[in-house]
Amino acid sequence: PTPNVLNFGAGPAKLPTSVLQRAQAELLNYNNTGMSVMELSHRSKEFDNLHNKAQRDLRTLLNIPDNYKILFMQGGGNTQFAVVVYNLLATKRHQIDDLEEEFNPPLDYLITGSWSLKAAEEAKKLYNNVNIVFDAKKFYGSYGSIPPKEDWKLSGSKAAYVYYCDNETVNGVEFNNIPEIDPSVPLVCDMSSNILSRRFDISKFGVIYAGAQKNIGAAGLTVVIVREDLLVRSKNFDNKNSDIPAIPSMLDYKIMADHNSLYNTPPTFSIYISSLVFEWLLELGGVEAIEKTNLTKAKKLYEIIDNSKIYKSPVEKSVRSRMNVPFKIQREELESEFLKGAIELGMLQLKGHRSVGGIRASIYNAITLEDVDFLIEYMMAFERKHC
Ligand code: PMP
Repeated sequence: PTPNVLNFGAGPAKLPTSVLQRAQAELLNYNNTGMSVMELSHRSKEFDNLHNKAQRDLRTLLNIPDNYKILFMQGGGNTQFAVVVYNLLATKRHQIDDLEEEFNPPLDYLITGSWSLKAAEEAKKLYNNVNIVFDAKKFYGSYGSIPPKEDWKLSGSKAAYVYYCDNETVNGVEFNNIPEIDPSVPLVCDMSSNILSRRFDISKFGVIYAGAQKNIGAAGLTVVIVREDLLVRSKNFDNKNSDIPAIPSMLDYKIMADHNSLYNTPPTFSIYISSLVFEWLLELGGVEAIEKTNLTKAKKLYEIIDNSKIYKSPVEKSVRSRMNVPFKIQREELESEFLKGAIELGMLQLKGHRSVGGIRASIYNAITLEDVDFLIEYMMAFERKHC
């Protein structure tokens, strides 16, 4: 029997118990192959079936239109911070397709928390024209709000792309709608911590990426969804006559797409776990069903925080994350007592990120309403004790 533990970690995070049980049951003999899925060749028929089914299931779950490719890459969100720079500059170069023209389009970044900030800093390392559309911390002193559209300094159609993070895992800030930008500019979105948690109109995006270790499966896999027209490259770019750097093969969306993500050995076990998570989610009724549960979970938790005398949310109501719920305890010295008591009851990883402190409950898809109720009961009892 599994010990009675509730994992509220931000990632790697809780996986559905039934997924783990199935992986355990299939561990020594995957699909009658006589070996584990980890030992299968990535060029085998069995793996090919699994790989293609995982893609199809993800396409169904997210309602991904036919003109988008699904790529299974590696290196996590941090690698994508650089990957999008290389790839979308190459695409923009192709679109201009006049090698005489000076090429220096801005890259627009919306900064709503520590992950989008880190992405912008990585872009600055690689390229000299990164435009900060806004940095919410400069507006408000700390992350927790998104400035109104009038204060955004978008570059318009000149930009090679507009980048944002839909859900800031550390700061608990989530966009409540997709940012409206010039429709000719690709919108790039880091959905690492809220992909599959709610429905999105995928057709609004140029690129979406997410590390698997929260709502998708096990660390090691990075899912990328990219609109096909962004994979077009000019001959001039390909034969290295270009004025922008060539893309390392492993980071090239086009190479990955042309090889159905099998350019090199992919993270086969992580893809397998994701395929089980996708099946689990489809059985539950898909993203629409989990979205309802997620909304209920988040609502209940924020209600307790807002009606409390000791808990306080640092995030403005309209942009509160449904996946990562950070809160402070008004007398800071109570925070360590809160965490200690939670651990005694089996509730783990509730400590806020080291950069912001406080408490953070990550309530991804695998966290049930009952799990959240258990946390809420503890929070109420803790408050009664200290009021
Ligand atoms: N973006 C977001 C929103 C994240 O939450 C994280 C990781 N927690 C990252 C990027 C970085 O991902 P990785 O650790 O996979 O590089």
